[in-house]
Parts: sequence; C-alpha cells; structure tokens
Amino acid sequence: ECLGWAAKDSSGVLAPWKFPRRPLRSTDVKFKISYCGICHTDLHLIHNEWGSSKYPMVPGHEVVGVVTEVGPGAKKFKVGDHVGVGCMVFSCLKCDHCKHGDEQYCDQLIWTYNSLEDGKITFGGYSGFMVTDEKFVCRVPNNLPLDASAPLLCAGITVYSPMKHFGMTQPGKNFGVVGLGGLGHMAVKFGKAFGMKVTVISTSPNKEKEAREVLGAHNFIVSRDAAQMTKAAKTMDYILDTVSAPHPLDALLELLKIDGKLVMVGLPDKPLDLPAGVIIFGRRTLAGSFIGSIKETQDMLDFCGKNNVTSMIELVPMDYVNKAMERLRKSDVKYRFVLDVEKTLK
Ligand code: NAP
Ligand code: ZN
Repeated sequence: ECLGWAAKDSSGVLAPWKFPRRPLRSTDVKFKISYCGICHTDLHLIHNEWGSSKYPMVPGHEVVGVVTEVGPGAKKFKVGDHVGVGCMVFSCLKCDHCKHGDEQYCDQLIWTYNSLEDGKITFGGYSGFMVTDEKFVCRVPNNLPLDASAPLLCAGITVYSPMKHFGMTQPGKNFGVVGLGGLGHMAVKFGKAFGMKVTVISTSPNKEKEAREVLGAHNFIVSRDAAQMTKAAKTMDYILDTVSAPHPLDALLELLKIDGKLVMVGLPDKPLDLPAGVIIFGRRTLAGSFIGSIKETQDMLDFCGKNNVTSMIELVPMDYVNKAMERLRKSDVKYRFVLDVEKTLK
C-alpha cells in the first residue's frame, strides 16, 4: 500500500488516500519519493480543464527520490541511487517514435498519472513511493540538490527539448521567454547557460527586478504595456511561450524578426487567437513542442549537473498542497512549488 494525496473529483481538492502499487517486475525500479514539483498541468488536470481527467487522481510528474529495490532484470540503477521520473512511465517501444528516441509522441504513451495501464489508473508523485520500468527512470547527478532538481523532470525538459530542437542554443541570439513561471524561469536559465541574450516577456512588473538581478535576464518587457511591446518589434530570433492561460499571440509574433520562430509549450484550455497576417508578413514560424524523450531528459540532467543548473523553488509541506494550488493559479510562486514528500507525507 502506498499513501498519497488524491483529488476525488473536479473540485480539485486534494486529501490523503491509500492505494496499491504494482509488485516489482523484472526490469522495474522501486524508489522512495523525496520531493515532487507542482506543475501547472497538475492544476489543469485536478480541475478537469482539458476534459480528460480520471479520478481518483494522484498528481505529480516531477518526481525525485532514492532507489530502494531493483528487479532482477534491471541494470541501470542500484539501491541508493538518486533518480527521477517525469511525465511518462511507458510507451509501446515499437513504433517509429519509440525507435527513434521520440517516445513522448508514441500513440500508446502511458502517463505517470491520469493514464490507464493494464486497465488501471496510474498514480503520480504526490505519494510515498513509485514502481517504474527502468527505461523511464533517469539518473539525477549526485552534485545536484534533490529538491531543486525535481522541476527539471517536467519544467526543465519541456523547455530544454524545443530549445535544442529549434536551435535556441546559439550564443548571442535574441531569445524571448513569455511567462516567468515554472517553465519560463527554466528557459531563462538554459538560455543564459547557452549564452543567448534573454528577454522576459511578462504580465507581472513585480518580477522584473529579480529577473534581471537574480536570473540574469538582459531585458524585461511587460506584455500588457503596448509601448514597450511596439518598441521591441522585430528584435527577436526566437520566442518560447510558456503561458498557461489564453492570451493574444499577434503582439508576441510581432516581436520576431523576419524568419523568427515562436514555439508554444504552454497549453491554455482555449483555442489560439491568431490572425494569419502576423506569420505571413514576416515569414514567421509558429510551432509547438511536448515534453522531451528519456534520452533528452538524461542529457538535460547531465547538462544541469555540469553547469549547476537547478530550479528556484519554494519547498512546502504536503498538507500545504491545496493552498499551493490556489497560489499557483495567481502566479504567486517563485518559481516552482516543490512538495517535501519524504519529511511531511503522513
Ligand atoms: P506557471 O508556473 O503557472 O507559469 C505560467 C506563467 O504564465 C505565469 O507565471 C505567468 O507569468 C504567465 N501567465 C499566467 N496567466 C497569464 C495570462 N492570463 N496572460 C499572460 N500570461 C499569463 O505554469 P507552468 O507550470 O510553467 O506551466 C505553463 C503551461 O505549460 C501550463 O499550461 C502547463 O500545462 C503547460 N505545460 C506544457 C508542457 C508541454 O509538454 N508542452 C509541459 C509542462 C507544462 P508572468 O507572471 O511572467 O506573466
Ligand atoms: Zn508538468
């Protein structure tokens, strides 16, 4: 039996709940959960904002912990290793996407939670331990603090993957990050680590000082200030949009140079509002990207280990989770809540 915190319905209220985990299979790893990040996706899903929610729901896909047991056929890890699990726990392993290391696009992907595996709902990291096939478990470098590493498993990889894929790694290029939340602040950190000139585009003027002084952003634009937006028109090579709510895209696309690219990773619950002219008169590209593969996640974690990149977090006890959700809805967190599972789950 595993203790976790679950939502029973779309009211989204989380409360303690006990459920079974599967017995260890040959290539499984069992690990005790130390910390779990709170992603805005958890907030969308507990309230069924995308219409796909299954209850009871134990959220959590930024899971880090310490290995306590390995199956006889598991080769990657040993007891005591620091490990992490992100948004997915299995895929078909046979389709083109799986074969070419893009398993996040597998049609039979099994999510860490809110998914069905052998007819049963999967449960995430707001809980005491997990049992996961080693292929979907990553190694967290030993030099990184585990609590501040938890958000790398979703926020980190979700921005790192498109940055690599679309070339947002070139020193000196102008890189805009829209929304300074969990995903956004990781994009700023990676942009800086790659040597890009990073501009934060935000609705929160009160985030400017820290964005510049602590995160090292070169520039900060308040997106609701039309004059600031006009002044920055056609200055950016790339923009990564991490916003969780519906918002106008035309003004953001106008910030791109000719041939610039805007990649969406934020997933609002309403369709995009996009006049075609802004991409046509500028030969601009609008693209999207979904988390990242296990191989990319491991690459990202190793990169973070070498460059000392982690998340800026507010560590909170398990029974603070409902309050944390309320504050996350108001963008009132710098910049990721992480649940102190090991010390406070009871
Ligand atoms: P978050 O921490 O809440 O950050 C979102 C940021 O968006 C906020 O901090 C805020 O930044 C900005 N924002 C909020 N409401 C806004 C509005 N009405 N207009 C303009 N900006 C607004 O959320 P997160 O955890 O980073 O997740 C962001 C989104 O990415 C969510 O929709 C989540 O589901 C999605 N997601 C996608 C993937 C993927 O694979 N593509 C993976 C993980 C998460 P400012 O205060 O700076 O404006
Ligand atoms: Zn997430």
